[in-house]
Parts: sequence; structure tokens; C-alpha cells
Amino acid sequence: MENNIIEKTHVLIIGSGPAGYTAAIYAARANMKPVLYQGIQPGGQLTITTEVENYPGYPEGIQGPEMMIHFEKQATRMGADIRYGLATKVDFSTQPYKVWIDDEKIIETDALIICTGASAKWLGLPSEQRLNGFGVSACAVCDGFFFKGKEVAIVGAGDTAAEEALYLSKLCSTVHMIVRRDAMRASKVMQERVLNTSNIKIYWNSETDEILGDNKTEGVRIKNTKTGEKIEVPISGFFVAIGHQPNSDIFKGWIDMDETGYIKTIPGTSKTNIEGVFAAGDVQDKNYRQAVTAAGSGCMAALDAERYLTAKGIA
Ligand code: NDP
Repeated sequence: MENNIIEKTHVLIIGSGPAGYTAAIYAARANMKPVLYQGIQPGGQLTITTEVENYPGYPEGIQGPEMMIHFEKQATRMGADIRYGLATKVDFSTQPYKVWIDDEKIIETDALIICTGASAKWLGLPSEQRLNGFGVSACAVCDGFFFKGKEVAIVGAGDTAAEEALYLSKLCSTVHMIVRRDAMRASKVMQERVLNTSNIKIYWNSETDEILGDNKTEGVRIKNTKTGEKIEVPISGFFVAIGHQPNSDIFKGWIDMDETGYIKTIPGTSKTNIEGVFAAGDVQDKNYRQAVTAAGSGCMAALDAERYLTAKGIA
């Protein structure tokens, strides 16, 4: 480790979704000279969506990847130092805190803002990958609107799937819900709502055999795992709601998290249990998960970091 290049920053931001870039915009405008490492997927989850219609300020909507280029440009224009690179290890035992980038460079930082996001879990089917953005989505709130009046399918049986199925049932003619067991994991109240919604049709003991369509989603082949029977259902949208995985592995053992790895923040703030370490966006939010809420929490993190550094007499 002696040969690692060491660099010192006041504020280090890791992650480049709406939370990270917004934190960078605020931190740069406050003259904190933030350095932001973009991580493995520059732009984050929005770079794998198509049109974004619910982010305020874009009356005509905008493509997700283009929106993230706007975020990045704005952060750069404010003076943030945006870099390629993945945070691979941290050491919070002494201040300034250490963050390893690509296992070779060490950044020592007075304050750290974690915006590493979460990744949707996918089924792993080739057709799911091929049609991603062409009718296949992992976010009903983001993309449900495009299937107004049409038939869609959703896979999953947790609270997210239940919530998204209910959301879709208000927009779409029929929601075909594919549940792999004979029971749902979702809370009782959510299950009851789903079961009492007439245009949600549940397929118990069922798995997705294939999503059908060449350039757009046209149907789904559902296999009953008890009987082996396969049926094809015509649909225009296919939603995967089998959970998200917060990208928080490198902080395990350092920062308080819930049982699924979401970083815990003090309610109403971006503060973690480690002073000077803040978290924003989906890595600390399993409930809202929207670009606009992530951006809002990125702003909070930059303001919290600024106040922290000022109180410490560092910035
Ligand atoms: P969960 O892990 O709770 O549920 C995932 C669901 O997807 C389960 O039903 C699981 O099936 C199913 N699943 C997993 N892998 C596959 C697969 N390969 N094929 C088919 N189905 C699969 O994730 P959620 O995102 O639903 O929820 C995460 C957490 O967030 C939970 O604690 C939840 O309560 C909470 N939450 C709360 C909300 C609220 O209170 N309003 C809203 C949304 C989430 P199986 O049951 O068979 O394992």
C-alpha cells in the first residue's frame, strides 16, 4: 500500500446519479472544490431508462442519458472535478478518511458524500436484456405512463411489486402479475389491495419463461412451475420488481445499514453514524427512489457537508 498515490480533498463525492451530481453542483458553488468519482455506470440508473417525463423543468420530457449529461455539464461548469473511477475500499478509522479509487489511488478527504445508488435486480433472461428500454423496465412510476390503456405484466411479489402493480392498475387495462410461489411476500394490507383490484390478474407458482418481441415488447410466456404449462399473454410493457440492491458493499463494517444494506441516515438529514460521512440518493432510500428525490437528498448532503466543514474550521 506504500506505493499508492495519495491526494487530499475537502469533499469527495462518490457516485454520479442525480444525487452525486446535485451534491457536486452545491458543493462547488459553495467553493468546497469537490472531487466526484463517477463509478462503474457514469450517470447511474437513468442512463438505462429512455424517456423521463416526471422530472420538473423538462416540459417536453427528456431522455434519461441526456438528462444525466446535463447534470454532469452543470456540475462541471460550477467547478466540480468529475473523474472516471470506482471507489473500491474505504478506511474511516482516522480523519481524514481514506477512499481507494480503482484499488490504486488513495483520496484522503475531510468529508465524504456517498451517492453510490442501488441497482435493480433482474431476472437474467436474454430477452429481458434485449428489450430493456423497449417495453422492459424496472420502474413502474418512471415508465408506467407509456402503457396507458394497454396490457402489462409485472414480476415480483414484495411490497414494491404490490405497490407498482397497484400504480399500473390505475393506468393500464390489465396488469398480469407473475408470482413465483403460492404466496406473496408483501405486507398483508398491500396483498389485500392487490387481490381486491379487479384488473390485476395474478399467476401463482409462475415464472417468466421469455419476454416476446423483436424490437419492442409484445408478449410474455409464463410457465406454471407446478404443472409445467406454458401460456403466452400479449403485453406492451414488462416490469421487473424483484428488489433492488444498494451499492454499499465497500462500507460494510464502517457504516450503519439496515439488513438489506441500505445506509442509515439520521432522519431529516444526510448524516450517517460516522461524522463527516454523508449519504444521499438510492443508497439510503428504498422508498421513493426517484431522480428528483435523489437530487434533493444530494443537495441536503452538500449543505450538511458544508456546515460540518465550517463547524470544524476546515472550509
Ligand atoms: P423484496 O425483497 O421484499 O421482495 C422481492 C420479491 O421479488 C419477492 O416476492 C421475491 O419472491 C420476488 N423475487 C425475487 N427474485 C425473483 C426472481 N428471480 N423471480 C421472480 N420473483 C423473484 O423487495 P421489495 O423491493 O419488494 O422490497 C424491499 C424492501 O422495501 C422490503 O422491506 C419492503 O417491505 C420495503 N418496501 C416498503 C414499501 C412501503 O412500505 N410502502 C414500498 C416498497 C418497498 P419470494 O417472495 O418468493 O422470495
